[in-house]
Amino acid sequence: MAVERVFDHLRAIATGAKYLFLKPRLTLMYPDEVEDLPRGYRGMITYNHETCISCSLCAMVCPADAIKMYLPKEVPEGEKRPKRYPGINYTRCIFCGFCVSICPTFSLQHSTIHDVSFYTFEEQIFRPEEFAKGPPKPQYDKEPVKVRVIPDEERGLRYERV
Ligand code: SF4
Ligand code: SF4
Repeated sequence: MAVERVFDHLRAIATGAKYLFLKPRLTLMYPDEVEDLPRGYRGMITYNHETCISCSLCAMVCPADAIKMYLPKEVPEGEKRPKRYPGINYTRCIFCGFCVSICPTFSLQHSTIHDVSFYTFEEQIFRPEEFAKGPPKPQYDKEPVKVRVIPDEERGLRYERV
């Protein structure tokens, strides 16, 4: 058993040493290069307030408790039972896509945006008003090169300019 472990460690070291001298297999030179993501990629979510019917299904199905139904900031005068609309907490979202799949009016869709950062915890919570504006755009110092991931029999993966 102990001998097997030693061999396992040696094998791991040999693998590391091998790739030390080969071109990197998986390293993407982000942010100079960004991946051209395929259709169906589950990134941050867009929300169409105009088509939302306030059914709450998205909040009910969310396994991470990331969607909450909010009352509008300003309730119209005389409205006795104001509708609630969804907001999202990206500190909780696991990008499972259940909310997108269940929405009966297709008001929720995935974007391909995934590479944005926030300074505070609060910035990651989007009330319906902010949710409807869409996810923040990634900020790059210069326009990145778009690359596509190509399976490669010898190297595992390689990147090709789009
Ligand atoms: S993608 Fe999943 S975790 Fe994120 S808000 Fe939708 S249902 Fe919740
Ligand atoms: S976004 Fe879709 S699922 Fe969520 S409350 Fe609106 S209509 Fe219902």
